[in-house]
Amino acid sequence: MRRTVFNEDHEAFRETVRAFIEAEVVPVYDEWFAAGQAPRDFYYKLGELGIFGINVPEEFGGAGLDTHKFEAVLYEETSRAGVQFGGSGVHVLLALPYIKMLATEDQKKRYLPKFVTGEEMWALAMTEPGTGSDVAGMKTTAKLSEDGTHYVLNGAKTFITGGVHADRVIVCARTSAPSAEDRRFGISLFAVDTKSEGYSIGRKLDKLGLKTSDTAELAFVDVKVPVEDLLGEEGKGFSYLGHNLASERWGIAFGAYAQAAAAIRFAQQYVQERTVFGKPVASFQNTKFELAACQAEVDAAQAVADRALEALDAGELTPAEAASAKLFCTEVAHRVIDRCLQLHGGYGYMNEYPIARLYADNRVNRIYGGTSEIMKSIIAKSMGL
Ligand SMILES: Cc1cc2nc3c(=O)[nH]c(=O)nc-3n(C[C@H](O)[C@H](O)[C@H](O)COP(=O)(O)OP(=O)(O)OC[C@H]3O[C@@H](n4cnc5c(N)ncnc54)[C@H](O)[C@@H]3O)c2cc1C
Repeated sequence: MRRTVFNEDHEAFRETVRAFIEAEVVPVYDEWFAAGQAPRDFYYKLGELGIFGINVPEEFGGAGLDTHKFEAVLYEETSRAGVQFGGSGVHVLLALPYIKMLATEDQKKRYLPKFVTGEEMWALAMTEPGTGSDVAGMKTTAKLSEDGTHYVLNGAKTFITGGVHADRVIVCARTSAPSAEDRRFGISLFAVDTKSEGYSIGRKLDKLGLKTSDTAELAFVDVKVPVEDLLGEEGKGFSYLGHNLASERWGIAFGAYAQAAAAIRFAQQYVQERTVFGKPVASFQNTKFELAACQAEVDAAQAVADRALEALDAGELTPAEAASAKLFCTEVAHRVIDRCLQLHGGYGYMNEYPIARLYADNRVNRIYGGTSEIMKSIIAKSMGL
């Protein structure tokens, strides 16, 4: 089927990104993998390449676009090469929508120029040790000082992607206790400067996959956050999160589809090279059937991911549609990558083969940004169930 989401600008961008990955990422990727993170300097290179500024208005140094199609190309190209750009995905996919939607002109002037260059990397901190799926259950507090100049932040967050390198973190905290009628009431968002006194980074977490992204625990002890760094209106945080989670979930859906497509490519190449019982693995009917079945699933996932992309760009992707795309694409990717790994035999289990890394990287897609079970709850609710 003819694909209609990308035009010549996206394809030109694809060429640039592909060459960048070959030159700047592939040769050093094993070092990043062993170190458990991409080096901080790499993010300046992404800034120079213009990746962070695509959707930032021109007056703040960006390209002034408003589309997720270039991000989509990035997902396809990083997956194709079997690499990740460290924890930088959250900078654009998670943090930028909040800045664009909520920041005042003064905040945009302070935040965006450094955002575009990679001088200031951003992350988003919702999850806490005691609560993930149940966002309204968060315990981190931000209390307005008596003189009204700052909030005092106390609490802890965990699993924060980009948490080691981040210069600013959008922290979700309670500015007032939940009301009896509405547990979601009283959450606010703050753009916290990570150099603030009382802000500390705990463990860099050792993960099953996504080895080059820095995932950290964060702690806040009497951190003074100037009122000028409150994002949006006090107490409305939950509705902002609800609004922006749709784009995050699209990103995970599209990334998962791209990983599944890459898995087929890796497997197809491997089965042609590997000989067993005097024949290439590719020659067995089982191999052909497995790959054909995987391709059919990936074709369907691509159609869903592309359609969700168009809806997102048009501002029409509903929370339930985003949940549905995430559920479908991540479950497809899970099945496809597992089957493609199986075709590699024991080599598929070795980290030196991209399929092994892909298998580990992909696993979290059914968990973060909301688990598959939470996606089903959202879809069921939209069906009136
Ligand atoms: C690698 C990684 C990176 C992450 N990055 C970030 C980040 O940058 N920022 C951030 O804020 N968070 C981040 N997270 C957190 C992630 O979003 C949460 O892990 C996720 O939302 C699940 O929350 P939890 O881990 O507390 O699981 P829990 O909420 O404890 O869930 C445990 C199990 O219970 C199930 N469950 C929960 N509620 C229901 C229900 N109502 N009905 C049925 N089943 C239910 C879940 O589906 C799951 O199977 C990251 C996580 C990982 C692993």
